Amino acid sequence: MKEITLADSAGFCFGVKRAVDKALEIKGKYDKKIYTLGPLIHNNDVVNFLKENLIYPIELEDITSLEDNDTIIIRSHGVSEETLNILKKTNLNIVDATCPYVENIHKKVKKYYDLGYHIIIVGDKNHPEVIGINGWCNDCAVILKSGIDIETTANKVCVVAQTTERQSTWEHVLTKIIKVSKEIVAFNTICSATEVRQKSAEELSKNVDAMVVIGGFNSSNTTKLYEICKQNCENTIHVENILDISDEFIKDENVKKIGVTAGASTPDWIIKEAISKMN
Ligand code: SF4
Repeated sequence: MKEITLADSAGFCFGVKRAVDKALEIKGKYDKKIYTLGPLIHNNDVVNFLKENLIYPIELEDITSLEDNDTIIIRSHGVSEETLNILKKTNLNIVDATCPYVENIHKKVKKYYDLGYHIIIVGDKNHPEVIGINGWCNDCAVILKSGIDIETTANKVCVVAQTTERQSTWEHVLTKIIKVSKEIVAFNTICSATEVRQKSAEELSKNVDAMVVIGGFNSSNTTKLYEICKQNCENTIHVENILDISDEFIKDENVKKIGVTAGASTPDWIIKEAISKMN
């Protein structure tokens, strides 16, 4: 029998749960398909579950194919100001499920951009949340993770972070900015849910023989959890669901204690299935 421990705060965060609940609640009111602008969350199992409930992802360039009064949901990652304006000009029913914490970043970025600050986003330039944030300062932000290219930064800067960024990356980049900029306004916008999840995964991974990190392969916060756990526990695996947990892994006699954590877009049912398979 293995000893299996689930890390605190594993799985759905407040913003993701809110978006999924909202989508299901709205679907309950309409007897037709509804749409999400891009996949609602970075988890294929959940996206497939939503499709079974007639909730489909659609890209911005395809919204002209929708009918008047069709419903479209903005996901928790949020969108740029331009995208929001495009949506508002349509005859679609728009439901904004942007996480309030992300919306708060949009407001800060817009305010300081209008005040003449150069915006720096500590995060991944390809992540939809960061693309959305950049769209509140005219797509002019410097987006970085390492601080290597910071020599060119302006004197007056406003720094924010992707909500799922690692605390250590934020601190590293700020240390660099302090050396090159004179006037710095910094908002640590890393979401507390992310911080708590990362810290508890880090602690747990120090005390187990193997770690299982559950979440979409396209989920950046899950990938970060994997990286954190791997630093402490060599036998860390990243899986999307129970199908990715091999019998070989479970039957390994050297593995007596297994830690489990999951990204913000991993639903409870997938975590429970994985734990029961390992049990
Ligand atoms: S991680 Fe935090 S900011 Fe991002 S959606 Fe979840 S609750 Fe909102």
